[in-house]
Amino acid sequence: MIHTAHGYWLAEAGPVEPAPPLDGDVSADVVVIGGGYTGMWTAWQLRERGAKVVVLEAGLCGHGPSGRNGGFCETLWTHLPSLVERYGRDRALQLCEASVDSVGQIGAWCEANGVDAWFNRRGYVMASTAPAHDAELDAILAVAPADRVQPLTEAETRARCDSPRFRRGLYVPDDATVQPARLALGLRGALRDVIHEHSRVTALRTGGDVVATTAHGSVRAGAAVLAMNAATRGVKPLSNRLSVTSSHIVLTEPVHDVLDQLNWHGGECITDARTFVHYFRTTRDGRIAFGWGGGRLAPGARLNGRIEVDAEVAHETHQHLVAMFPGLQGRRITHAWGGPIDVSPSHLPQIGTLDGAPVHYAFGFTGNGVGPSHLAGRALAALASGERTDLAVIDPSPVKVPPEPFAFTGGSLVRRAFLRKERLEEEARSVDPLTRAVTAAPKILGIHVGR
Ligand SMILES: Cc1cc2nc3c(=O)[nH]c(=O)nc-3n(C[C@H](O)[C@H](O)[C@H](O)COP(=O)(O)OP(=O)(O)OC[C@H]3O[C@@H](n4cnc5c(N)ncnc54)[C@H](O)[C@@H]3O)c2cc1C
Repeated sequence: MIHTAHGYWLAEAGPVEPAPPLDGDVSADVVVIGGGYTGMWTAWQLRERGAKVVVLEAGLCGHGPSGRNGGFCETLWTHLPSLVERYGRDRALQLCEASVDSVGQIGAWCEANGVDAWFNRRGYVMASTAPAHDAELDAILAVAPADRVQPLTEAETRARCDSPRFRRGLYVPDDATVQPARLALGLRGALRDVIHEHSRVTALRTGGDVVATTAHGSVRAGAAVLAMNAATRGVKPLSNRLSVTSSHIVLTEPVHDVLDQLNWHGGECITDARTFVHYFRTTRDGRIAFGWGGGRLAPGARLNGRIEVDAEVAHETHQHLVAMFPGLQGRRITHAWGGPIDVSPSHLPQIGTLDGAPVHYAFGFTGNGVGPSHLAGRALAALASGERTDLAVIDPSPVKVPPEPFAFTGGSLVRRAFLRKERLEEEARSVDPLTRAVTAAPKILGIHVGR
């Protein structure tokens, strides 16, 4: 198994020439900090409005999670139960419809800009793998419009992909898959003239104009957008609004024979219904990319080491892959990689404006940012242009995570309890009261652990 820092997708997309770092002092209408999907969609939207925008990226645009995720380009329909609880039914539905629009706009953008990001709108399947997880499907089906989320019987689920683990499922036709690095690098190419790479922002001064400073220059602007994903954990006023964990992916060699056995030719992306979710999809050349969101928590704002690639978690992810698809026993894993996940306590993206400063932010995609980062980009561009946005993504009552070291120790304890609970549930064994109590604890603090 090859562990690569950047994963398979960036290698498949080909090498890039770095854009020049910021050198000197410049001015702009808006400075965007972070060149992943969120920052780049924001910059794109702003430029469409005629604004002068500068993107400052610490490394290379699209080389963070935006270039190495699973490529599930999803709407927000599976979040509908929590959105209804938080915003009421009408606003929740409005937000989900906007997320459908965003997935469509990503496909249309690729088409219009000649970017072959393998955009494939063949829908998403959530398959239950334990009786205890059926309730997850039922909660979504109970509130979602019938044309947006459809129930699948066990036979219908297994007709799409014949894993022996699958029970019944649900299907979201509006969701798509992409080759994530091709999408990120396509955006990067379209914005190249406004991007500075290897330009980490080390200070942001507010009061009148904002001034973003890097090692060799500064940008003075009317507004700033923070699109830094997990690095937001290091931004003082926002540090208690997210925790950071990791997700890992293993990629098989081409396995056309196994795909034939599974009858998995529809191009759907699939997850189970667990809290620490397994997610899987096929590639154009007949591989299976299989991810697991069960990585360890990062202590505080530390983002390197096991948050980037955790060999033990990658190994475990491989074992889970074979359990889901026994036909893959003995087949080669060509790549394994991981990356940080910006976990929001509500499990919904956090979008807003800092108190008293024209500094707008989006983070907390919680492993579901490919589609929603486009929606965030629309909202951030509107905020930075001084426009109103009535989308419910602007959260009026953010939930906070506990301070360190409680967040790390408590979070690690809860993670272990969830892993135990889900293993027992899948083995059809009863869950002990202590494990139940620990997994129930976050809810008391208003923290939503899970999907
Ligand atoms: C292994 C894995 C699998 C995933 N699978 C999926 C999936 O299938 N579907 C899905 O929807 N989501 C998935 N996600 C989540 C998804 O990738 C993210 O939600 C999304 O890419 C977030 O985009 P972003 O632009 O906010 O963040 P990033 O892509 O992380 O971009 C942030 C950028 O900010 C830069 N930056 C940070 N600090 C500074 C600074 N001080 N100065 C300048 N630049 C800075 C970083 O270098 C980085 O490039 C997955 C994530 C991982 C790790």
